[in-house]
Amino acid sequence: MLQFVGKAQAYPPKRLAEDRARDFQEIANLYAPAAAEDQAGRCSQCGVPYCTVHCPLHNHIPDWLRLTAEGRLREAYELSNSTSTMPEICGRICPQDRLCEGNCVIEFSGHGAVTIGSVEKFITDTAWEEGWVEPLVPGPARGQSVGVIGAGPAGLTAAEYLRVQGYDVHVYDRHDRAGGLLTYGIPGFKLEKPVVMRRVERLKAGGIVFHEGFEVGRDATLADLRARHDALLVATGVYKARAIEVPGGDARHVVAALDYLTASNRKSFGDTVAAFEDGSLDAAGKNVVVIGGGDTAMDCVRTAIRQGAKSVKCLYRRDRANMPGSQREVANAEEEGAEFVWLAAPAAFEDGGVRANRMRLGAPDASGRRAPEVDPGAGETFAADLIVKALGFDAEDLPTLWGSAELGVSRWGTVLVDGKTLMTSLDGVFAAGDIVRGASLVVWAIRDGRDVATSMHKYLRAKAKAEKVAA
Ligand code: FAD
Ligand code: SF4
Ligand code: SF4
Repeated sequence: MLQFVGKAQAYPPKRLAEDRARDFQEIANLYAPAAAEDQAGRCSQCGVPYCTVHCPLHNHIPDWLRLTAEGRLREAYELSNSTSTMPEICGRICPQDRLCEGNCVIEFSGHGAVTIGSVEKFITDTAWEEGWVEPLVPGPARGQSVGVIGAGPAGLTAAEYLRVQGYDVHVYDRHDRAGGLLTYGIPGFKLEKPVVMRRVERLKAGGIVFHEGFEVGRDATLADLRARHDALLVATGVYKARAIEVPGGDARHVVAALDYLTASNRKSFGDTVAAFEDGSLDAAGKNVVVIGGGDTAMDCVRTAIRQGAKSVKCLYRRDRANMPGSQREVANAEEEGAEFVWLAAPAAFEDGGVRANRMRLGAPDASGRRAPEVDPGAGETFAADLIVKALGFDAEDLPTLWGSAELGVSRWGTVLVDGKTLMTSLDGVFAAGDIVRGASLVVWAIRDGRDVATSMHKYLRAKAKAEKVAA
């Protein structure tokens, strides 16, 4: 351990940009075992590990780094797995620069953080290869049943922990495949789909019942599901795309980011997607303009490059320093050929182009970032045959969609929960993940899923006890 002075920080090498721009495979390969051990050995085993403090799951990072450095990989896997249902997924897609690695003391000392995420991915990918990932074994049957609405990381995590406790668990999702945004939002070059599907298969094999293609609000009301189960979890994520109020927004060549990414992800499963086959959601041969500066915009830009777009531009109304997306993802996109146009916002979507205003930055707004304002007189038109709107997502109106006016929501539509129990305004109905936090991160959804499972278990035990006393 403590090798951070003698051994330089080294992430697993990225594939050449021109190669990775041709496919949807992840952009970096796995560490070779010796490299993983070397990199783990750079950790200084801090007494107060800030990496762990800033990991939403409070993973035992220094401990599994030490075990990796000592070549004790199976123990490293078991420890890493004890706090997370999907360590290899977090290792791939957490914005580590803002979480664990961004708070590693070695980073502050100028030696470059321990490459925590890449080691985490290495440990659990190795465990899958070696057959160390054990089947999900349900605890003794309790005779109580739980319904989980939404098969994203929050719902899947809660389902797993509750099944281990011996509950009958039913997961309902409106999509035909489980995984939520892991499956249909995040592109394969960040997270290859078999990595998600093997997790889902493990849960199915453990007896969790999946009702795919089942939309609450269409196939059942919330009240129907409450009658069917002893407790319910709402983990439906946020899907209402934020609008851009400019002329031409409903033109055929102006599309929503999630429609675009979902079509592309479906293609990677081999599905037939009508809107892709007819060209509306395919960037091949087109000038593409993506509007937005978050991670969804980056994913659209990089998807368009892989589909063979003629040119790809990303318009963002602030500058590089004030964008919400990860700098690492911008660098990846630039390497692959995307062009960023900073301080530009659409004024109108026209046939074959986007008319844009030039922006300048004023005083900081409520988010602390400097607010963009139009720079009068300056503007430009960019050629575009496909325009992708990627301005983020808000919650859908669940009380209306689900015929459940008594479900308490905030003014942004997110579901309100008791801070301690994570229960909503309805007895026995809990909520977790993006539908509570607003658009967030996979690692927070997993954390919420873990916490809500603990709380639901407590509630269900009390309910069983009360029913026994009453009987
Ligand atoms: P979701 O993953 O959204 O899952 C919710 C599920 O509920 C879905 O499967 C949906 O079909 C289902 N559902 C919704 N309504 C109903 C209904 N009425 N009936 C039945 N089922 C329903 N985070 C990161 O940490 N790293 C990244 O790199 C990253 N990239 C992202 C890229 C994109 C394009 C997007 C959109 C998000 C990204 N995120 C990323 C954010 C991350 O994906 C989310 O924070 C996370 O998936 C939230 O998990 P969840 O379980 O709350 O909801
Ligand atoms: Fe870092 Fe995310 Fe892994 Fe936590 S879960 S250690 S934040 S990569
Ligand atoms: Fe190791 Fe960095 Fe965590 Fe310290 S902060 S324990 S050096 S990974």
